[in-house]
Amino acid sequence: MIIFELQCEAGHRFEGWFGDSQDYEQQKQQGLLTCPMCDGHNVSKMPGVVPFIKKSTRQPSSEQQQQIETKSKSDSKAINKKRRRRRKQEVNVDPVVLLKTLHHHVRTKFENVGSRFYDEVVKMHRGESPKRGIYGHVTHEQQEKLDEQEIPYATLPKLGPEFEN
Ligand SMILES: [Zn+2]
Repeated sequence: MIIFELQCEAGHRFEGWFGDSQDYEQQKQQGLLTCPMCDGHNVSKMPGVVPFIKKSTRQPSSEQQQQIETKSKSDSKAINKKRRRRRKQEVNVDPVVLLKTLHHHVRTKFENVGSRFYDEVVKMHRGESPKRGIYGHVTHEQQEKLDEQEIPYATLPKLGPEFEN
């Protein structure tokens, strides 16, 4: 088994598992190598990365060797498929569920400072009060002042009433 660090033309990096380096060349020539992030076919090995090779401890006869090679080829393809599927599922998240989770997390884990948000963030930024998760609201002017001072904050996108519960 050999593992290559691969990269697509969009710059996504991922691992490819192969029976051996010939297996890699074959899959590449047949267009079987695709990026799990963007499905791009222009995939190449990362330069300078030493592949991880898992060696078999036994020395099988040539006939057995043939069988094992065939098996490992299909195995590595199956693994590649499995890995691709898993990565896709991770990316495939309902944005409404994600936003609701984010809102819930902020409401339950962060301190609600309401209209004092601007003062609290500035104090935290200056080290005058302990760093912690807070939420609240700011006026347009306060938001501009935060930007001017390059104080980091995040704006939670609002969910319309049609998404409530
Ligand atoms: Zn890609």
